[in-house]
Amino acid sequence: MSSTGNNADYNLVDYDSKRSSFSWDTVEKELGFGEAGYEHNIAHLAVDRHATGVLRDVIAFRFIQKDRSRQEFTYLQLKEESSRFANVLSNLGIQKGETVFSLAGRIPALYITALGSLKATAVFCPLFSVFGPEPVFQRLHKGEAKILVTTSAIYERTVNQLEDRLPSLQYIILSDLEEHRSDKVLSWSRLMKEASPDFEIPTTGPEDPALLHFTSGTTGMPKGALHVHKAVHTHYITGKYVLDFHPGDIFWCTADPGWVTGTSYGIIAPLVNGVTSIIDQEEFDAMRWYSILQEQKVNIWYTAPTAVRRLMRMDIKPLEKFNLDSLRVILSVGEPLSAEAVLWGERSFGIPILDNWWQTETGGIMIANYPSMEVRPGSMGKPLPGIEAALADVTEEGFKLIEYPGKQGHLVLKKGFPSLFRAYLHEEERFKKCFAGDWYLTGDLAKQDADGYFWFIGRADDIIKTSGHMVGPFEVESTLMRHPAIAEAAVIGKPEPSIGELVKAFIVLKPGKEPTEDMKLDITGFARKNLGPAVAPKEIEFVSSVPKTRSGKILRRLLKARELGLPEGDTSTLEQN
Ligand code: AMP
Repeated sequence: MSSTGNNADYNLVDYDSKRSSFSWDTVEKELGFGEAGYEHNIAHLAVDRHATGVLRDVIAFRFIQKDRSRQEFTYLQLKEESSRFANVLSNLGIQKGETVFSLAGRIPALYITALGSLKATAVFCPLFSVFGPEPVFQRLHKGEAKILVTTSAIYERTVNQLEDRLPSLQYIILSDLEEHRSDKVLSWSRLMKEASPDFEIPTTGPEDPALLHFTSGTTGMPKGALHVHKAVHTHYITGKYVLDFHPGDIFWCTADPGWVTGTSYGIIAPLVNGVTSIIDQEEFDAMRWYSILQEQKVNIWYTAPTAVRRLMRMDIKPLEKFNLDSLRVILSVGEPLSAEAVLWGERSFGIPILDNWWQTETGGIMIANYPSMEVRPGSMGKPLPGIEAALADVTEEGFKLIEYPGKQGHLVLKKGFPSLFRAYLHEEERFKKCFAGDWYLTGDLAKQDADGYFWFIGRADDIIKTSGHMVGPFEVESTLMRHPAIAEAAVIGKPEPSIGELVKAFIVLKPGKEPTEDMKLDITGFARKNLGPAVAPKEIEFVSSVPKTRSGKILRRLLKARELGLPEGDTSTLEQN
């Protein structure tokens, strides 16, 4: 399939030659590094350096509120607001390397918290605002949260009930509170009013921790993937070559900053490349989205397969109703983007939707279809210049790279790129297990064709992707087990065309408990209340036992195979009931 337009205008004109000439060493020069100690700081590179230059009065963020009114921040205003918040943190005694958590929707305070925290050399950790109390607790507890920025509504609904279990939580800043409520529950506007808009960024090393993103594992509770300030090199380069940012561009990333895409590409990459971002505070609505693309003259639109599938189902021909002449690049990430969706994009917008692949641990885009390159519908594309991707056999016996084209294998990336995570918080062993020699094991299975394009096959583990969000089965099972009628729970991802996979729970009830519809409703209500609607099981099936290995591990793979009517594979470790 043809590429998006006239190659000569793209930042990446010729993939092969850029790939062979690229070096990460040149990025500092491109970013205008000087001698000051703060040159590596993400907030300096994303905001302050522009605020004192030609981009000073350019809109950095344009928030579109639910009623369509706008709130805008120029680069200069963003510098001042983020400096105020950095001063708030230092006034509260938050030290370098301590984590600042946010739990909010796409409101300005969240974005200012992110940038102010980075400026103050604290670590920023966004949590998804739709999480129920349990997922929030797990993450704040593991991160030993001292400070959290949230809203009054989320505080009342979720955080309030957790306070006794979070003794280290010292400050809760509410974005919409007029006056401080106590020494602990503080007003954002009061703190910001009292803080100076001038802040000198302290010396920041490239390897200083900057961002913490929780992601789900198959076993155990969520893992906190830690990224350093140098990750911004990847954000900058992918913004340039994959998103194809040009001066004056209007960019819309529909992802929520509660997840890594909404931070890396909803905050950092567009700012470091000096463009204007649109942030819609409302949830998905097809007509609203198309009208925003038109009204805001969006040039680059980064979205996800779940949204694309919903748009496909609506049967609206956008070009007949809307003027989308400004739209130059459309991209998608988070789940496989089917060939059909790519072709639908071409028919509906006149340009294909460019799929790209990455994950929380890689911090930025790793494999992509580039605007200037031939698009293979259904493929994730080719590795970013500066990134070496390969396939490997990974077994108990060891690790062996596979020659391509041919067999499928584990997708692995050569270590050494700037945005690779540096640790799982407090989990050295889990971190070490992700590496084999020089290679990072992504946990995904893929294949590569004779021309070097990568094709996604699936996860190598039991992690569930639902509406683009990672859900760890163990986390869901642990919460379900707290229901008084449940003896055992096993959770899988069941393929569902509109949301990728839905969370399905197999439940063994305690003796004497009846597997009725009312019980199902009760368990569903319990799960939604504690886990939040994005994580709670959408389907529940009562069973008399769940398959386990002799050592007691739930065989989710077997449950899934049975659910889908697929071969059961090797069941030699199955415990006989
Ligand atoms: P997360 O860490 O939550 O961003 O999820 C990362 C995982 O999402 C990857 O390891 C893949 O399993 C999946 N994923 C992300 N992008 C794609 C894509 N373009 N195609 C297929 N799967 C994807």
